[in-house]
Amino acid sequence: MPISIKSCPCQVSPSLAFLSTPVAYSDCCQPYHDDLYEDGTDKNGGVKAESAERLMRTRYSAFVLAKADYIVKTTLPAQQTLLDVKAIESWAKETNWVGLEIVKHTPKLGKRHAQVEFKAYYTTSEGTQAHHELSTFVKVIDKTADDKGERWYFLDPTVSMSVSQKQPCICGSGEKFKRCCGGYLP
Ligand code: ZN
Ligand code: ZN
Repeated sequence: MPISIKSCPCQVSPSLAFLSTPVAYSDCCQPYHDDLYEDGTDKNGGVKAESAERLMRTRYSAFVLAKADYIVKTTLPAQQTLLDVKAIESWAKETNWVGLEIVKHTPKLGKRHAQVEFKAYYTTSEGTQAHHELSTFVKVIDKTADDKGERWYFLDPTVSMSVSQKQPCICGSGEKFKRCCGGYLP
């Protein structure tokens, strides 16, 4: 799919198109996607998304642009090796994405979770379809990072992990799985 750089993919919404002012990709999701400065120095993994909604938007744009690496690195680290990168990439490329609509952002759920309900639109021979999803995100504190910062990650409900309810949570919070991310995973 040819990408118009005029408007960031995440800013295109079929139902709200007439309301939105164009925001360029370079002013929107690109800084989050790019790991490197123009001179080639490492930006330490790109700009961190400041909220679950921002992360969701940058992930949608990454799907549109088939940046599977970004999809992987914004998924909870414990789940990353279980993702099928090739499948993500081919699905992203084969889908004709046409827009995103954030239905609801719940920025705080308990201590460290957030949810974003959205519709991602795509076209098929049958017309425009909507992929309607409620995604959960978890805020992880990385004590080893230079900035000791918090980072939002997508909690992928399709990745099956063999972790029992009483084991420490996969997000590294130190709480039991069932009292933490387990509550948001099937
Ligand atoms: Zn964007
Ligand atoms: Zn957790």
